[in-house]
Amino acid sequence: MRCPYCQALNSRVVDTFRDKTGRVRRRRECRTCGKRFSTIEQWIQQLPLVIKADGTREPFDRDKILRGLRTACWKRRVSATDLERLVDEVEEYILSLGRSEIPSRIIGDRVIEGLKRLDPVAYIRYAIVYLGLEDLSEVRREIDRLLETESGQ
Ligand SMILES: [Zn+2]
Repeated sequence: MRCPYCQALNSRVVDTFRDKTGRVRRRRECRTCGKRFSTIEQWIQQLPLVIKADGTREPFDRDKILRGLRTACWKRRVSATDLERLVDEVEEYILSLGRSEIPSRIIGDRVIEGLKRLDPVAYIRYAIVYLGLEDLSEVRREIDRLLETESGQ
């Protein structure tokens, strides 16, 4: 922790306590100039905020994604572990971008891509909800593409 008076980097902690909000405060003394200053330790938000289509922000919600996936995979042969793994993968990807905010579309695209590999029917169900009814032609194109791939195998 850099001293605010002389910029030196060597200080010693003389006291540690928690303030009313539960944050850890430390009283430090600079070893170079001898002046004292306080620091606060704060929790760092790891996952970025999600920018929704309407421009509002909300915290990344892993459970919400899982709920959507479970609905899409209802009565399909996709295990809970597969879905957990998919959400893990999405979370890792989001963290790797190192951004403080991320459009929901980027997350949705990643989820949908992973689901495509797991189960084509669940994928289409999810795509219908995710893309919305206005994009039915897009959903149809996706179904056509899937059928082509299947018949080509
Ligand atoms: Zn100093």
